[in-house]
Amino acid sequence: MKRIAIIGAGLSGLTLAQALKGRAEVTVIEKARGPGGRTASRREGVYRFDHGAPCFTARTPAFLAWLAPLLTAGVVAEWPGAVINLQAGRVAGIRHQSERLLVGVPGMNALAGHLAGAIDVRAGTDVAPLGGGAGPYPLASVSGEALGTFDLVVSTAPTHQTRALFSAAAGAAVLPEATMKPRHALMVAIDKPWFEGWVAARVRGGPLRWITVDSSKPGRARDVTTLVAQTRSRWSRPNCDTPAELLAPMLLHALRAALPFDLPEPVLVKAHRWRSALVDHSERPGPWIAPDGSLAATGDWAGTSRIEEVCLAALDLAEIIKRDLP
Ligand SMILES: Cc1cc2nc3c(=O)[nH]c(=O)nc-3n(C[C@H](O)[C@H](O)[C@H](O)COP(=O)(O)OP(=O)(O)OC[C@H]3O[C@@H](n4cnc5c(N)ncnc54)[C@H](O)[C@@H]3O)c2cc1C
Repeated sequence: MKRIAIIGAGLSGLTLAQALKGRAEVTVIEKARGPGGRTASRREGVYRFDHGAPCFTARTPAFLAWLAPLLTAGVVAEWPGAVINLQAGRVAGIRHQSERLLVGVPGMNALAGHLAGAIDVRAGTDVAPLGGGAGPYPLASVSGEALGTFDLVVSTAPTHQTRALFSAAAGAAVLPEATMKPRHALMVAIDKPWFEGWVAARVRGGPLRWITVDSSKPGRARDVTTLVAQTRSRWSRPNCDTPAELLAPMLLHALRAALPFDLPEPVLVKAHRWRSALVDHSERPGPWIAPDGSLAATGDWAGTSRIEEVCLAALDLAEIIKRDLP
């Protein structure tokens, strides 16, 4: 069987691995302690936050078909409720929701956790850049540990990281380019149940862009309120190198100013920086594969950062790879 290494256990890597399972010997290698990538959930004591992607939507029959087993297993569920606009501390209307919002249960990282369950995932291993020459490629971690030799290496890291991983090996092959934009997530816990009639708010003006009530999502504890406020990339860009904990009081101030009520004193306030949160600009080239079929890459840069497009790009790449499999 062909040996395939997939770098990254976010939704791109796990979707691809699941689609290739049984047709090749697939190993997923992830530098973080667990799978999920930007569909991350974080525990802070008894509180839990989706501090990466808060939710997603499904527009195409292909993605709905892929999601169906996850919906049946209860790993994905609809997140009902009103979404409002906020402006200068006032409610500025209810947003018309033409699409249903979907979330992982009990956290956004449940999708990745479920997909990773049936796949060989080697977590806590940061893959070092590949050496020069043609495949098969021996892989090593940055700490020098040998990871095996692979007929095909697929990177699902952001493009600038993929370029660094593949620059010696890819030679003259042209890797697609994309620019990414940053965001910060402010996590706030309040020791009382949520008391307003809405579940998410788009904020007009100021550093914040979205406020989501995580505790209103299905499968979350209801006796407390957990809020996640995401910044505008315009605000995050100049603040990217400031430690997130120094930004937390400033973002809490912005949250208080955005909300149409006096926020009760939080029991927990934390901030997280996503340096490469979302695609800023991409030509949407689709997944990439080297002419000799020994290197490939996919990720949100292949299309947009919507989870649906990320998964569909990985499924497209799986079909291309399968053409060369027995
Ligand atoms: C704040 C925020 C808000 C978002 N909002 C939404 C939204 O509302 N709706 C929506 O659909 N999408 C949203 N997204 C985007 C969505 O989360 C991403 O597009 C999607 O999760 C990307 O998945 P991926 O697998 O391509 O990349 P990632 O999830 O980034 O996975 C790549 C993985 O590769 C690993 N990796 C990188 N380099 C190496 C290496 N050298 N060795 C080993 N592992 C490596 C990384 O650790 C990471 O886990 C949001 C994202 C963020 C951060």
